[in-house]
Amino acid sequence: MPNKFKNLSHDFPILKRKINDEPLVYLDNAATSQTPNQVLNRIGDFYQHSNANVHRGVYTLANEATAAYEQVRNQVAAFINAPSAKSIVYTRSTTDSLNLIATSFGNLVVTQGDEILITIMEHHSNLIPWQQLAKRKHATLRYVELNADQTLDMADLKHKLTNKTKIVAITQTSNVLGVTNPIKEIAKLAHQHQAYIVVDAAQSVAHQKVDVQDLDADFLTFSGHKMLATTGIGVCYGKPELLAEMPPVQFGGEMIESVSRTNATWQAAPWKFEAGTPNIGGVIGLGAAIDYLSEIGMAEINAREQQLTAYLFPKLTAVNKLTIYGSKEASQHAGIISFNLGQLHPHDVATGLDMLGVEVRAGHHCAQPLMATLGVQATVRASLSFYNSVEDLDRFVQAIQMVKEFFAGESK
Ligand code: PMP
Repeated sequence: MPNKFKNLSHDFPILKRKINDEPLVYLDNAATSQTPNQVLNRIGDFYQHSNANVHRGVYTLANEATAAYEQVRNQVAAFINAPSAKSIVYTRSTTDSLNLIATSFGNLVVTQGDEILITIMEHHSNLIPWQQLAKRKHATLRYVELNADQTLDMADLKHKLTNKTKIVAITQTSNVLGVTNPIKEIAKLAHQHQAYIVVDAAQSVAHQKVDVQDLDADFLTFSGHKMLATTGIGVCYGKPELLAEMPPVQFGGEMIESVSRTNATWQAAPWKFEAGTPNIGGVIGLGAAIDYLSEIGMAEINAREQQLTAYLFPKLTAVNKLTIYGSKEASQHAGIISFNLGQLHPHDVATGLDMLGVEVRAGHHCAQPLMATLGVQATVRASLSFYNSVEDLDRFVQAIQMVKEFFAGESK
């Protein structure tokens, strides 16, 4: 492993914690990532030295805060290779971004009889907004199904993508299966049918290089808290010509051009979508998180996480009675491995692991239609990050064996 990844716990003090007297092994990175000192210090510094509201004052502090806030917009644009900072809307989260797109853009372009195509592996936040839009507009929501190896069935996608399809909304990386979908190819197919493509990059943007122009994504959404920044800050990228057409869905301070007793006009995008005082500290932290990721390099981060996944995967498949969901290939898992252990309830497994200091998620992962397709109520999910160590993974596998013995009285 390159030296860059050694001693990262200096940057992430939480990784030095003990849980139930055991060293913390944090494997719930798909739910939220940990936040390095560099991000926390940048936010602290902002509040200690430059705190003021943005886009309002003419005094020095307000100008500094506004400049810093807008500078991060340039950084986000560069990070995903957006054509302009004006194509970056700050939101609360991926969920907030997807709701904005489905409500504003969806209402604009979807009409009765149209089809919206999503996949069965979507997180609820890239499913329910489209389900609601379909209900509002008397449109049809269709699902692309899985292949036998639980990757996306591209033949099914090609079959269901027709001239009736108005929007294709798809995750780049599944938060359950770990598979990364061929977004560039899907965008091309969608555009051949005059459909728009909305990409949920919540699980990809911190783990691989994402280039919105290369993908030709019409929209792309992600959350700061899954990429080393804090909760409550998200991004909605949109092609400038699409954002220009879209009406705002929230109204109030700062998003207006002028207001009279009977009418109001809006600012241009992205500001027309940012009503009220935004999460300025969150934006500042997002800038620091992008600096941190960029300093290591997205290619290096991706390679490191692939290496860790390749190390862990065979160790898990070797555990008797452990069923992994998704592909049998480690390379198709992007650091996310969902599994069940015999007939043990996933919550019991996760609780047992927690007793040993290992933090994993158990549940339906906000993907109930996918759980139904997999024929389970819930799974355990381990999701890693570049700051995890090989020792973390060894402890995790050892803890699984101990949990198995504890609950089932059996060892491999
Ligand atoms: N999409 C995917 C694929 C996710 O994994 C998540 C978070 N689990 C979301 C969307 C929603 O992200 P947030 O809760 O930050 O809005």
